[in-house]
Amino acid sequence: MLALAAHPLGIDVTVVDPSEDTPARVVARHIVGRYDEKAALDDLAKSSDVVTFEFENVPDSAVRALSASLPVFPGAEILRVAQDRLFEKSAFRDLGIDTPDFLPVSTQADVEKAFATLGPLVLKTRRLGYDGKGQKVVTTFEAAAGAFQELGGVPLIAEALVPFTRELSVIVCRGKGRASVVYPLFENKHHAGILRESVAPARNVEPKVLEQAQNWARTLVNHFDYVGVLALELFEVNGKLMANECAPRVHNSGHLTIEGAKTSQFENHVRAVAGLPLGSTDMLCPTAMLNCIGKMPNAAQILAVTDAHLHDYGKPPREGRKVGHVTVRAESYAELEEKVRLLKAML
Ligand code: AMP
Repeated sequence: MLALAAHPLGIDVTVVDPSEDTPARVVARHIVGRYDEKAALDDLAKSSDVVTFEFENVPDSAVRALSASLPVFPGAEILRVAQDRLFEKSAFRDLGIDTPDFLPVSTQADVEKAFATLGPLVLKTRRLGYDGKGQKVVTTFEAAAGAFQELGGVPLIAEALVPFTRELSVIVCRGKGRASVVYPLFENKHHAGILRESVAPARNVEPKVLEQAQNWARTLVNHFDYVGVLALELFEVNGKLMANECAPRVHNSGHLTIEGAKTSQFENHVRAVAGLPLGSTDMLCPTAMLNCIGKMPNAAQILAVTDAHLHDYGKPPREGRKVGHVTVRAESYAELEEKVRLLKAML
């Protein structure tokens, strides 16, 4: 989607991806290689003016190495912080961004101590977790027993289990000139740790909640002298916000900006890293996005819904894998809900 956004701007794209069938191969030159493979990175550096990434598990050492020969946005530091949930939540706290209470865990005894201190909690591996992988909810002492080994005996973070009213995200894009633009709030529904559905602009948002979310997003990008798109995932608890995590990249909840906003998150990210002026983040109308998980739906059926759009990533079907998404726009939220109901039945 980044490469698709880059082409109309006259920008050619080269990607490094270890898998032969990366979805980007149809719109970009593809270097097959690991993200830390010297030959692949050298080839990328030789053929590029600027480098970016859209996967937060790229090793920060690879970004540091590339940064020696050409600009890489966003930088290695935000990647290092975002790759470790303990560093990430500590950075939020240091910047005055509220989070659920948390404690580091490195032994089974720590799990039990954390449960005694925090009450019901979510244990998460500090590194390499995504889409709810490497997590366990602990609500009883029995569930706490053995939880450390169950999650692989690796360093964990214990977080208070938040009885959130809903999940929101805020997406900011900061340019090289340090100006930033922020999209309105997105309302997200997860199931089994995987994002299923986003709606934007989020409904019934208090102006002070919107302002706080946008300020937090701006605080983060300013602190890290960030260039590009960053998403901050939030819990709303009775009108109050807490930050869950940030993604130093274009974000799944922002996929709906392709059809729903004046400028998509992908175009704005490309503009930012290319040093071009940023575009408006205004939404055109109520818009929803549904992820296609496991396999693609029937295209003809989906597209028969007025103003529905289909994005097929060309990925082989696999259980639990995001293989595409559907976006739909409407004149009102009532109309949007009806269309979402129809589309969900097809997925
Ligand atoms: P994460 O991988 O941190 O984004 O977590 C995946 C999903 O698990 C979130 O989107 C929430 O639905 C849920 N979750 C994560 N952390 C917490 C928490 N501290 N309290 C309640 N639910 C959580």
